[in-house]
Amino acid sequence: MTRADTLSERQEYLRGGFAELACERCAAVVLVRKSSPQQTSVQWTTAAARQCVTELGALVPTCPGLRASIDQAVRTGRLEVP
Ligand SMILES: [Zn+2]
Repeated sequence: MTRADTLSERQEYLRGGFAELACERCAAVVLVRKSSPQQTSVQWTTAAARQCVTELGALVPTCPGLRASIDQAVRTGRLEVP
């Protein structure tokens, strides 16, 4: 994959309402979008999944540090909730 491909893919996510968020525990950067207060979409990049210290599940990677970071971002208004 070229760098241009990576960039356009990234911009696509950002346009789709995803925000970049760094896990406070492992500093992995993932793309997060809140579609409702209860629903959170997290897009893991390959690099982020590799960096996260948590043993990631095969289908739905979760990291306790990331969850806390998302809550924090919602509280501070960094992450928009519709
Ligand atoms: Zn993490």
